[in-house]
Amino acid sequence: MDKINWLQQMVEKDPNDHQARYWLGKELADNGRYMEAIQSLSTAIATCPDDDLKMDMIKELTKVSVQVQQEKSVETAEAAKDDAEVNIPKGPTTPLVNELQTKIKPMLKVIRGNGGNKFEQEEIREVTFSDVAGLDDLKKTIHLRIISPFFNKGLFAKFRKKVGGGVLLYGPPGCGKTFIARATAGECNARFYPVRITDILDPYIGVSERNLKEIFDKARFQKPSILFFDEVDTIGFSRSKSSSNTRGVIDTFLSEMEGIDTSTDEVLVMAATNTPWDVDHALKRPGRFDRLIFVAPPDENAREEIFKLKLHGRFAEEINTATLAAQTEFFSGADIENVVELASENLIEEILSTGVERPLNNEDLLLALQSQQPSTLEWLRTAKNYVKYANQGGLYNDVEKYLRKHSRRI
Ligand code: ATP
Repeated sequence: MDKINWLQQMVEKDPNDHQARYWLGKELADNGRYMEAIQSLSTAIATCPDDDLKMDMIKELTKVSVQVQQEKSVETAEAAKDDAEVNIPKGPTTPLVNELQTKIKPMLKVIRGNGGNKFEQEEIREVTFSDVAGLDDLKKTIHLRIISPFFNKGLFAKFRKKVGGGVLLYGPPGCGKTFIARATAGECNARFYPVRITDILDPYIGVSERNLKEIFDKARFQKPSILFFDEVDTIGFSRSKSSSNTRGVIDTFLSEMEGIDTSTDEVLVMAATNTPWDVDHALKRPGRFDRLIFVAPPDENAREEIFKLKLHGRFAEEINTATLAAQTEFFSGADIENVVELASENLIEEILSTGVERPLNNEDLLLALQSQQPSTLEWLRTAKNYVKYANQGGLYNDVEKYLRKHSRRI
């Protein structure tokens, strides 16, 4: 008898055996029987009383559903490609388009390093809210919760209101979490200190805690400042699953955060994560990151604005940004930036080889668009399961609303 049959028999014998259902789901998925796997895993999740095991089941279910969706997307993309090939206009521009198509190469991603220096203030142009497209509700929340305490210290003191607690931004990659944190610092004329958790973690006992303490001390000394912890899930990765070594870091982090009074210390703590479900619950309590804010992919208006912002100052014809925005559903701000960069790179390459200079045009951008897929879909598909099975206390209500609105296309 094969493993699947054996597990199926176990489930038949005891339909409430969630462990057997879980293993059956995994086995079915390994054998490419995705739909049956999804069904088995969903039932296992619904009947499982153990939270840790339930999270493992959700992860497995997510893996399977993302795989199914990816296969579907590949099929759709291939069908679309076939259609596009049939529909390529045969006009005077076609040879150029063909030539450019052969020249398109994958973009190299620039990863910023800081030479091992664990904590350095960024020395780049100040960014403010006017550089950030869309995200209007988020801007309002940040104004109320972060910027006003900076400028109305007396008011908060009068009501003996301790201004503390951090804001935790979460959402798909490239949608502006870091960018809006940086812009917040710009709005407050504060120093912006981005910290990558992985840069402060050290295998020697006590060193990570010391690094972390140093960071908070320095931010207090250099006030006003905004401390921005990226990938905060790395620090708070469910304490029950982390080693005793990382536990010390979490405790230091919590006590440092609680020790901050924004109105006197003038230090604000912001953090971001792509996986809020992996962030330790202790970090989400009052006085800590008690405000989780979903940073959604930009809507059509915001996408148009991002195109305009990213095209600003480039040698370009009048670009139909509305058309570009309409064709880029689920594109993140970073995806749009990539499209503009790629179109510019291709044009420069063309100018260098032909010696004929010309401005960037709509066609360049549409062509670059063809080689960029929306990068937020995978995250949104993953989030679906967490929203469905792990939305305790309505933590992910905003994501749920977003998913419901776009359910037919995700
Ligand atoms: P990750 O989770 O991968 O760290 P993120 O959400 O922090 O991603 P950012 O690093 O803030 O994303 O965004 C990447 C780039 O995309 C920004 O530097 C910015 O140029 C552009 N971008 C993203 N969102 C916006 C926006 N709303 N307006 C303008 N530019 C944007």
